[in-house]
Amino acid sequence: MMDNSKKDQLLHTCAWCTQEIDENEDIFGFGANASHDIDLEGKEGEFVSLNLSLRDKTVFALVPEKTKDPSMAGFDLLFITCSEHCAQSLKDEMDIERQVFED
Ligand SMILES: [Zn+2]
Repeated sequence: MMDNSKKDQLLHTCAWCTQEIDENEDIFGFGANASHDIDLEGKEGEFVSLNLSLRDKTVFALVPEKTKDPSMAGFDLLFITCSEHCAQSLKDEMDIERQVFED
């Protein structure tokens, strides 16, 4: 279980470049689906870490509380990034990993 200060910190940290996102700045979040090997049971509202093996990089994603956030229906994970550029880089990287590790 993650403590709240860590969670609060991750809510304001770019998942890709790990830069802190200022409270006055826009947050670029996007939904994604988890691959089947990640167990998200009981993790709603918590952050999970994902390993991008090709880059030896760990990224954090929030498991959305779908009951509280209807816009997240259909998504398993919410990534928080500081810019459109970081959001795109992260999406591209996950696509590459998916192509490599899933058939
Ligand atoms: Zn960033």
